[in-house]
Amino acid sequence: AAAAVGSSVIPIVNKLQDIFAQLGSSSTIDLPQVAVVGSQSSGKSSVLEALVGRDFLPRGSDICTRRPLVLQLVHQPRRPADAEADEWGEFLHLSGRRFYDFREIRREIQWILARPVDDIYFMMAETDREAGGNKGVSDRQIRLKIFSPNVLNITLVDLPGITKVPVGDQPTDIEARIRTMIMSYIRHKTCIILAVSPANADLANSDALQMARVADPDGSRTIGVITKLDIMDRGTDARNFLLGNVIPLKLGYVGVVNRSQQDINSDLSIKDALAREEKFFRTQPAYNGLAQYCGIPQLAKKLNQILVQHIKTVLPGLKSRISSQLTAVARELALYGEPVDSKAGLGAKLLNILAKYCEAFSSMVEGKNEDISTI
Ligand code: GDP
Ligand code: MG
Repeated sequence: AAAAVGSSVIPIVNKLQDIFAQLGSSSTIDLPQVAVVGSQSSGKSSVLEALVGRDFLPRGSDICTRRPLVLQLVHQPRRPADAEADEWGEFLHLSGRRFYDFREIRREIQWILARPVDDIYFMMAETDREAGGNKGVSDRQIRLKIFSPNVLNITLVDLPGITKVPVGDQPTDIEARIRTMIMSYIRHKTCIILAVSPANADLANSDALQMARVADPDGSRTIGVITKLDIMDRGTDARNFLLGNVIPLKLGYVGVVNRSQQDINSDLSIKDALAREEKFFRTQPAYNGLAQYCGIPQLAKKLNQILVQHIKTVLPGLKSRISSQLTAVARELALYGEPVDSKAGLGAKLLNILAKYCEAFSSMVEGKNEDISTI
């Protein structure tokens, strides 16, 4: 998957995590969560899917995401012998069963979505639920792990869309309830918000941007994503919006063209969709000179840069924590009169490697940023 999230930072982060594992250290690099918000059918699921690079989410006007889908990407080494088998999904509610066929994953999600939901409370982010209230969570929140050599350990959350009008037996205050639930995810400082707005609706009134502004007033963790650039009114374009001239955003906007319902019906692959998107932006005069604001690969790149920045911020802290752990181990071993060079020696060696990595990483980020964030 060319545009997979974190594809370019994967090798570095994985090396660092390997080092931590060898040290038996409790320190790890916790990557931030990424959540998509927006109104119904704005293209949230489409954006997430394109970022992951696999088809597995139900999309469409009638099959909407009615429960939060917490998608945990888990990196694992490539297995050269049976390449087929090194990518699979596992649901929390069906633990132990591996889905190698991603169409089956979608069928399973669709099946769950078809079941009635009675309790918004259980769909809230775990941290926002009171202790003891965890029973039945898996039933309300869909939790899916995807194991793959092409991903970084990161959590993506596909959130239900903001709806205005209750349908069926939905309560009259459904909008307020859904907003509260969405807020329970995006209000956390470690959550990166992808605020998705369709270009064929009034962008200035975007629900996504309004909610993102409440959750993240200084805009330090919100990326604006404008979908459906291909089906805007003739004679209009999103140029000014992408440039931040309408609603400014610190981290800026990326415009994308996802697959239409017809493309989905005719099984257009992600790869072909990405090629078509590239052609769209190359050939539309309105987006001339805006390459850095356009396309799923640019969105992936932006996310990577944020992740790199995050890792850079947490590395020094990790380094000093491991350093003091090592000192403690060495002191303890010395007390027992054991030879210090075995375990502590190995630890020191690893710390050395880690220090070198941190340096290399920092200089890469500062100097040739392009090298690690180009997809
Ligand atoms: P969600 O409800 O926000 O998750 O939206 P979906 O991802 O399910 O998309 C809703 C519908 O809009 C689907 O039929 C998609 O095929 C379609 N769609 C999404 N993004 C685009 C786009 O960029 N262009 C076009 N033409 N259709 C899109
Ligand atoms: Mg959806």
